[in-house]
Amino acid sequence: ADPLRSPLLEVKGNIELKRPLIKAPSQLPLSGSRLKRRPDQMEDGLEPEKKRTRGLGATTKITTSHPRVPSLTTVPQTQGQTTAQKVSKKTGPRCSTAIATGLKNQKPVPAVPVQKSGRASGVPPMAGGKKPSKRPAWDLKGQLCDLNAELKRCRERTQTLDQENQQLQDQLRDAQQQVKALGTERTTLEGHLAKVQAQAEQGQQELKNLRACVLELEERLSTQEGLVQELQKKQVELQEERRGLTSQLEEKERRLQTSEAALSSSQAEVASLRQETVAQAALLTEREERLHGLEMERRRLHNQLQELKGNIRVFCRVRPVLPGEPTPPPGLLLFPSGPGGPSDPPTRLSLSRSDERRGTLSGAPAPPTRHDFSFDRVFPPGSGQDEVFEEIAMLVQSALDGYPVCIFAYGQTGSGKTFTMEGGPGGDPQLEGLIPRALRHLFSVAQELSGQGWTYSFVASYVEIYNETVRDLLATGTRKGQGGECEIRRAGPGSEELTVTNARYVPVSCEKEVEALLHLARQNRAVARTAQNERSSRSHSVFQLQISGEHSSRGLQCGAPLSLVDLAGSERLDPGLALGPGERERLRETQAINSSLSTLGLVIMALSNKESHVPYRNSKLTYLLQNSLGGSAKMLMFVNISPLEENVSESLNSLRFASKVNQCVIGTAQANRK
Ligand code: ADP
Ligand code: MG
Repeated sequence: ADPLRSPLLEVKGNIELKRPLIKAPSQLPLSGSRLKRRPDQMEDGLEPEKKRTRGLGATTKITTSHPRVPSLTTVPQTQGQTTAQKVSKKTGPRCSTAIATGLKNQKPVPAVPVQKSGRASGVPPMAGGKKPSKRPAWDLKGQLCDLNAELKRCRERTQTLDQENQQLQDQLRDAQQQVKALGTERTTLEGHLAKVQAQAEQGQQELKNLRACVLELEERLSTQEGLVQELQKKQVELQEERRGLTSQLEEKERRLQTSEAALSSSQAEVASLRQETVAQAALLTEREERLHGLEMERRRLHNQLQELKGNIRVFCRVRPVLPGEPTPPPGLLLFPSGPGGPSDPPTRLSLSRSDERRGTLSGAPAPPTRHDFSFDRVFPPGSGQDEVFEEIAMLVQSALDGYPVCIFAYGQTGSGKTFTMEGGPGGDPQLEGLIPRALRHLFSVAQELSGQGWTYSFVASYVEIYNETVRDLLATGTRKGQGGECEIRRAGPGSEELTVTNARYVPVSCEKEVEALLHLARQNRAVARTAQNERSSRSHSVFQLQISGEHSSRGLQCGAPLSLVDLAGSERLDPGLALGPGERERLRETQAINSSLSTLGLVIMALSNKESHVPYRNSKLTYLLQNSLGGSAKMLMFVNISPLEENVSESLNSLRFASKVNQCVIGTAQANRK
């Protein structure tokens, strides 16, 4: 099974098995070693020797012949050498060397072994000096006999030697054969060895490969061990996580059970709530019906209230003294409190004027004349824009309810008309005028009414009437600033509605859009001002908003215009001034202004007197506003007053005009009450 071991073991086993074969030659009966044995020993040791050599019968003889070797001393050296050489030629180098050595060893000690062996064996001494000495010299016969014996012995010896020689040659042949066999065996063994070596090499190679393999496997093992450790760590973590998740799951299940319980109770609740909802819906419809009825009632009552307050109302507003203006004398303008005391909103105003002409007649300054005026409301200089707007918010509501509303600002130039209508400079929200405030209020009330099913839409226009010509203040592009000629026309044949031709009517739905329109109007006025000096103060600016409301589910509709008018300066031209060409032009302007303002007064008076003919057509302004003035229309006039002493005369004129209008109002209100 072991690829490494088996070939090696096999080789080793083979080697051990063959070892006796290799050693065999050393047990060969080499002559050299035998020579040292004594003849008696040889005779004794013959049997074991025979056993070892197995059947080499000749060897016994060779061995026994060894003690007689000393007689060989006579053999010439050359003969021995030749024999050895011959032997060596036949047996190969190893055997010949051994034999030659044996022969050589005999040479240097020829006599000694002979004497020794002779004495030991008890054989009579061989040829030499001692035997002849025993026979007397005269004993020739004896001597001859000895010699014959000697000869006989020599012959025997020769014969023996020949035999020995023959035996040795046989032995040599055997040895040679053995050598040959051994050589073959050696070749076989060498081949075997080579094979074994090759196998060993292959084994080594395999071993090397296996070592590399083992190394690699060890490396992999260590990697795998690391992986296993990591996985074990992960497993621990996952187990931890699993435990956490299990507890979470349990918690969730608990919660789910709670939720399910809650859900079933909720479902029951929902069922009861549904029933309740049905009941509520019925109630709601009923309430809506009632609400609508109440809304209509509110509108009616609101209108009644406004009518009781007067369809035409006059508010007086005195602007503050501006920085850099002379401080007016105290008592010039007074705001006496009403019958309800100072807590009542002021409604009265007194203006004191010292009449210079009267003073010059008497020679002493006459006491100032006091003029008392009473209006629906008086706003002293400190009044803010928000305060002023509060008073007209009700009128805005009327406009949404479908009543035409018209608000004027009347007064001399610089008295605060534009400030009141549009607002102060710089876009300060505190200083915002009536137009932006009214529109914001409209949008928010419309939004509230949308909850009751009302849908409102608004379309704005802004025109200027200068010298009885109408120009569009919302003009854009090439018409910008020039404000091409506009005409006031009926919207259609038989229609009550009026439109201004060439003027833009812009739908608006939020404050931002209104702001943009007011900004555009200011720009248009500024361009016009450079063309014609101070035109803005000498023209009427009319901002109109057409309000349309619809209650689609009830098929109700309402609509009315809201007009906000910044009138031209009411100041008159000083008749004492010399009339140059410029003044003549101004006179014409002034006459136009005065004419349109007086027409406005006349129209208001005719309306309050319920005259059959109302002179709307006498001026472009009244003609344009006719739908905002008659019938159920609500009208509000602001009379703006300058606080300065130098403006007292114009202030008085304005107050007188407003008072006249106010009287109309009172008349109307009284008439309504009856
Ligand atoms: P009009 O339009 O009547 O010619 P303005 O509205 O242009 O007059 O007002 C003239 C100046 O007086 C402006 O600078 C304006 O800002 C300022 N003014 C008018 N009314 C007030 C007020 N109530 N509070 C503060 N400043 C005012
Ligand atoms: Mg103005």
